[in-house]
Amino acid sequence: MIKGVIFDLDDTLYNATECYQYGMNSLSEYVYEEFNIQKEDFIDKFATAKKDVKTQLGDVAASHNRLLYIQRFLEMIGMSPFQYALKMYEIYWNSALKGMSLYEYVIPLFRMLKEQKRKIIILSDLTAYIQYRKIERLAIGDYIDFLITSEEVGKEKPSGESFDAVKKKTGLTENELLMVGDSYEKDIIGARKAGIRAIQYKLDVNIIQEVRISI
Ligand SMILES: [Mg+2]
Repeated sequence: MIKGVIFDLDDTLYNATECYQYGMNSLSEYVYEEFNIQKEDFIDKFATAKKDVKTQLGDVAASHNRLLYIQRFLEMIGMSPFQYALKMYEIYWNSALKGMSLYEYVIPLFRMLKEQKRKIIILSDLTAYIQYRKIERLAIGDYIDFLITSEEVGKEKPSGESFDAVKKKTGLTENELLMVGDSYEKDIIGARKAGIRAIQYKLDVNIIQEVRISI
């Protein structure tokens, strides 16, 4: 019997890829105005900065931290992070958060699960602070019983540690959990390796129906 459904957050509950693009567009405009760097050049340099951070850190939550990408970018162009980094971070996230919209299936599904007294768990690879901001922006906090980020686990999906953390926090076993996520590699493989049933979310699938059948 399924007692808890684990959801990935980004690109499973809302349009993350699109929102990150909004963030990058706003950041590009700021960088052009402030440093006279063309968008293509900025995108290129930012990608290098991101790669540097990811290479340095490996698979941990901080490897997604835009503040570290921005800091690295500013170091690359010889500008002071203390003057610009926080402002750029806010420009990026304010724009990304503003563009967020929950997928239509989410609230009806969450309501259904709450009525059935099933727990709703978010398991997400990012730092806690920004995931809290997203949850607040999407106004879904009242439905969520547990949030588990890779920042608190120390490892990212599909690691066994991520799913162990869910079991520990919820007190539920693998047979009592179901995973719903967009990434086959992270969400589906990760859950299945941990013995948890999983459904891959795709935009063209009626997710409510699938979850209803599975539980
Ligand atoms: Mg995702």
